[in-house]
Amino acid sequence: METYIMSLDQGTTSSRCILFDKGGNICSMAQKEFTQIYPQPGWVEHDPMEIWSSQLSVAAEAMAKINVNAGQIRGIGITNQRETTIVWDADTGRPVYNAIVWQCRRTADRIEQLKKDGWEQRIKERTGLIPDAYFSASKIAWILEHAVDAREKAEAGKLRFGTVDSWLIWNLTRGKVHATDYTNASRTMLFDIRNLRWDQEILDYFKIPESMLPRVYPSSHLFGMTDVSFLGGEIPIAGAAGDQQAALFGQCCFEEGEVKNTYGTGCFLLMNTGKKIINSSAGLLTTIAATADCDSAVGDAKDAKDCVNYALEGSVFVAGAAIQWLRDGMELVRNAAESERFAAQVEDTDGMYLVPAFAGLGAPYWNPYARGTIVGITRGTSRAHFIRATLESIAYQTADLLHAMEQDSGIGLKSLKVDGGASANDFLMQFQADVIDADTVRPGCIETTALGAAYLAGLAVGYWKDQAEIRANWKPDKTFLPSMDEKKRAALLKGWRRAVKCALAWAEE
Ligand code: ADP
Repeated sequence: METYIMSLDQGTTSSRCILFDKGGNICSMAQKEFTQIYPQPGWVEHDPMEIWSSQLSVAAEAMAKINVNAGQIRGIGITNQRETTIVWDADTGRPVYNAIVWQCRRTADRIEQLKKDGWEQRIKERTGLIPDAYFSASKIAWILEHAVDAREKAEAGKLRFGTVDSWLIWNLTRGKVHATDYTNASRTMLFDIRNLRWDQEILDYFKIPESMLPRVYPSSHLFGMTDVSFLGGEIPIAGAAGDQQAALFGQCCFEEGEVKNTYGTGCFLLMNTGKKIINSSAGLLTTIAATADCDSAVGDAKDAKDCVNYALEGSVFVAGAAIQWLRDGMELVRNAAESERFAAQVEDTDGMYLVPAFAGLGAPYWNPYARGTIVGITRGTSRAHFIRATLESIAYQTADLLHAMEQDSGIGLKSLKVDGGASANDFLMQFQADVIDADTVRPGCIETTALGAAYLAGLAVGYWKDQAEIRANWKPDKTFLPSMDEKKRAALLKGWRRAVKCALAWAEE
């Protein structure tokens, strides 16, 4: 009988389940959106029980669709929206508050305070992160301060914290296992990424009792078995990783210097830096990447170092979102795919640049006040130029990040592996290859996040023998080779940087 690995992909807007076979092919998929809760401007919550119930129901649905039973599922891998914070009662299993979603800004003041208290540098050194309300630490502190009786219960050792992976593992094992993996731990802003343990000083600073925290394991590891009542049998939960790290693994970026970029609403660019922890001078984050070879490492911090790699991470705030804006705000295209046809109608943008700094600019510029800027418009500027400039801006922003990564790491880019919705755009991918002067490769399976989680689980249970076997599954759909001459590339990039200067200048007063 055919066997599968189940991937639970718990995202920000939907819960999905995909069943993969040995070839890494998608054999079944089910997906369910869930409620976004906005109690106040800038606040975002999810109902943890809805996260759990939607995830469980899509798992059952994906199995039913192709009529497989629990005995045919060799293992489960979990990948999840990162940083989102859940605190629950260990006795009842009930959350004490809604999940505070990564996007939620309610603790921004707390982070300002942290900076005033002089903790910024320490946080960077220990956790690899630039202090921000995104990460779990200040969200846990907020729940302990605001949820009824939370502080007393936490001090009495009765509360548990988890990112979404932990919450799902806890529920799937009916409260038997409270665990997370290194990649998710590295996004809490509480984890010492050098010594691979919770950082007692940061915990004390945020007044978070250590008894709340999950035990941290490698991403490819037997976390526990699902309770028999859920999916009709006990299935090993054998992999967990945050979504971007799972995608890096799903793209088979196992070696130092390998890079992937996900083109979604925003872009997420990650470079595997191997055993090196790189302190970025351009405001990139250092984070833990998923690694497979870690059998002996469980619970022992010394051995554990063998089972993590590190990564540099940067993000573009507005990427596919700019194409949504062309469609919904500007009404220049009817759908995102149409942007490709318009862009191909013109030779170039005729000197026009669009900097989509709708919500400020991130690395390497870091200016929250910058705003969208269009320069170089003439009487000849047409709708096609406008659309093309918007697509090109996604590639330029990626090029800026890549350049920063290369400088920080001293590692030259060999090729860029791409995925995400907007990677379907051939014009964009060719332009990307041209401006970074490197091969840009789109794999056949662009569900790399779910696939990465499946690989991590499958390696732990021996469904796949080793990374080499997985790498053999990775097949390019299309490779885009750079074909722009050096002079033109340099001129275009120079123009882009001038345009960015204009966006920054606008923010000055
Ligand atoms: P997310 O996971 O962030 O929701 P997806 O990976 O589903 O994103 O990709 C959707 C994004 O990609 C949207 O912002 C959409 O505008 C953009 N997009 C989808 N198809 C294309 C295309 N052919 N060309 C350009 N952008 C596209």
